[in-house]
Amino acid sequence: MQQITVLGATGSIGASTLDVIARHPDRYQVFALTAHSRIDALAQLCLRFKPRFAVVADAAAAARLQALLGPLDCEVLHGEDGLCQVSSAAEVDAVMAAIVGAAGLAPTLAAVRAGKKVLLANKEALVMSGALFMQAVQEYGATLLPIDSEHNAIFQALPHTYREGLKPAGVRRLLLTASGGPFRETPLCELAQVTPAQACAHPNWSMGQKISVDSASMMNKGLELIEACWLFAAKPAQVEVVVHPQSVIHSLVDYIDGSVLAQLGNPDMRTPIAHALAWPERIDSGVAPLNLFELAHLDFFEPDLDKFVCLRLAREAAEQCGTAPAILNAANEVAVAGFLAGDTGFLQIARIIERTLQQQAVTAADSLDSILEADRRAREIAKHWLAQESL
Ligand code: NAD
Ligand code: MG
Repeated sequence: MQQITVLGATGSIGASTLDVIARHPDRYQVFALTAHSRIDALAQLCLRFKPRFAVVADAAAAARLQALLGPLDCEVLHGEDGLCQVSSAAEVDAVMAAIVGAAGLAPTLAAVRAGKKVLLANKEALVMSGALFMQAVQEYGATLLPIDSEHNAIFQALPHTYREGLKPAGVRRLLLTASGGPFRETPLCELAQVTPAQACAHPNWSMGQKISVDSASMMNKGLELIEACWLFAAKPAQVEVVVHPQSVIHSLVDYIDGSVLAQLGNPDMRTPIAHALAWPERIDSGVAPLNLFELAHLDFFEPDLDKFVCLRLAREAAEQCGTAPAILNAANEVAVAGFLAGDTGFLQIARIIERTLQQQAVTAADSLDSILEADRRAREIAKHWLAQESL
């Protein structure tokens, strides 16, 4: 029986994870569930899955949750310390890292440093702290399994020796597929007017708001490019983005002998989640089998970097390295939150990030302090630009 901590249990990935776990009560037990603001939703999950611990944002939320749980034997913790405690506890076998944004870095790193099996959905944590994070995986003997569907696909298509280098494994390129988001066919001139609701209406995936906006701007693919470089020790030039609107091929590995291995499936996150939970075994995920006859055809396009500026900025940050990805990520989080709150337009997202990257000096990302300081400073600069109406 494996004990699982689900960080970000009330989110989209959290829900899919608990759906897979519920299908296998003989294999998995929920050790801890965490949430930020949706206390009622977390209470429902606790009553259903009966975790030993639940973690919320602060003491007031903890008291509310405790009251909702009544006599249930579940200890309620709060804050970052609580998150780190449940992700590193000795009883825990695997941690699903599904908090959105930089807030997930500390508990995810705590799981890595405790040598856990870490199922990584929280791409922002790796984007911010890449070298440090991957060193910790090595040093503490953690098992890192990608949940992002593209990276999970690449992981499945690579040989087990990939950590010794892509070149010795005979890999030429990683082909990262992208749906192109809801604005793939929207002309650039119309993007200035799009609303948060339009940006969040993803054609193939149902996801949290932040990643939905990232998909609409294609920053999601930019973050994923950086994520792929760290996970698979690839250079940015070895990762090519391919727009594939059907989201059926989740990514591909191109080998030097001309073989191209892909992983296909219906667009449902329960597939990569079940894959990582059971790896190296396979379990039922509840996802319907792929029907190739219904698909009829698959399309592929080159991304339009003039329209999706965020993707270009992310590639540049990946090449620059150091704290550049942390700055990019922090500025994006501020800009997306501003867009969702109605404080700025969709096209301003890329402008805020670009200005922040221009203004802030990139330094070495050799300690957690230097990364957190870069993140803090980038948020300050991005907030300044967010407040400029003429941007
Ligand atoms: P979501 O918004 O649906 O859920 C986010 C979860 O994080 C919630 O449980 C929320 O309570 C928690 N949270 C938010 N802010 C927090 C904070 N400050 N402190 C502690 N907890 C906090 O997001 P999601 O779509 O489930 O995405 C989660 C992560 O997985 C993101 O990093 C996203 O990029 C990644 N991801 C998501 C999908 C998807 O299909 N949804 C696919 C690939 C990767
Ligand atoms: Mg993805």
